[in-house]
Amino acid sequence: MLRGAGLRVTRPRVAVLGAVFAHPHADTESIIGVVREDLPDVSHQTVYDALRALTDAGLLRRIQPAGSVARYESRVGDNHHHVVCRSCGAIDDVDCAVGETPCLTASDDHGYALDEAEVTYWGLCPTCSTVRSPDDL
Ligand SMILES: [Zn+2]
Ligand SMILES: [Zn+2]
Repeated sequence: MLRGAGLRVTRPRVAVLGAVFAHPHADTESIIGVVREDLPDVSHQTVYDALRALTDAGLLRRIQPAGSVARYESRVGDNHHHVVCRSCGAIDDVDCAVGETPCLTASDDHGYALDEAEVTYWGLCPTCSTVRSPDDL
């Protein structure tokens, strides 16, 4: 994948790519934790640099819901959306509402060439919505 994207193959890049594949929507700190299981001496900066290079090359997608730190995922290029739990911050993928990338067809694109539509659905995940009793509301 790295060569296909024109990137030099380095151990940190391979480890970061593997970590994001295994842990979709992970934040930088958790990715560093996973990468250090393989490469104990890797620095924060090296992981940041790898994440940036992989994102710029289109191998990873960076998402950042309001109030959250940046998260990374390997599911790129399909313009999917996300549902985010207001309570615990859990994130799941949501396909476009109908068919394939219909969200890119704006009611008025103002002449812009659109390539991405970002929709975030907010609510409570199943765990949080069952934990919360009526007394908490
Ligand atoms: Zn939750
Ligand atoms: Zn996603």
